Amino acid sequence: MRKGDSVLLLSGGVDSAVCLALELKADRRVVPLFFNYGQPQFESELIAFNGLVNHYGLLDEIRTWNTPNLGHSGSFDYPMRNVIFLAYAVNLAATLGIKRVVSGIRESGYADTTSLFVDVFAGMARNLSDGKINLEFPIFWLDKKNVIARGKSLELPFNLTHSCFRGNEPCGECATCKEIKEEVSILEA
Ligand SMILES: [Zn+2]
Repeated sequence: MRKGDSVLLLSGGVDSAVCLALELKADRRVVPLFFNYGQPQFESELIAFNGLVNHYGLLDEIRTWNTPNLGHSGSFDYPMRNVIFLAYAVNLAATLGIKRVVSGIRESGYADTTSLFVDVFAGMARNLSDGKINLEFPIFWLDKKNVIARGKSLELPFNLTHSCFRGNEPCGECATCKEIKEEVSILEA
């Protein structure tokens, strides 16, 4: 079994991109994992994913998984999608003999982004694998401002990322778009 490798869920958004930069900074070999699950921002996410893995020289390591379209309520909120994504990441890690699964989930109000969820899921994966597979959520307690500051200090190419959930063009109006625009411009000022 390899040591120092990780499977990393990489949507192409700022959060997962910062996790990627953190893993590489720690000198780990990273297997970036992308999901196609029917999300409206699929094309932009894929472009961001490819841009980031190309930037970091990881094109030979990538994995993508096309799921059936996931169900969503009204405004493209996909209930419990992290259950599915993490389960697949754990399966991939187990087949590749990799012990570390990294996700850029941050604490928020959705059922699958709470500390209860990440604790329960990480505990399940660890117990069922006899302690072999560990889930890590390195930015779980950071707010967006601190995530972006972290990205800046790691020289993350923000222009390659895509974080808007509304569609393929950053709408510039949703909370995520506004926050990123604001924080990046403050840091660049
Ligand atoms: Zn937006």
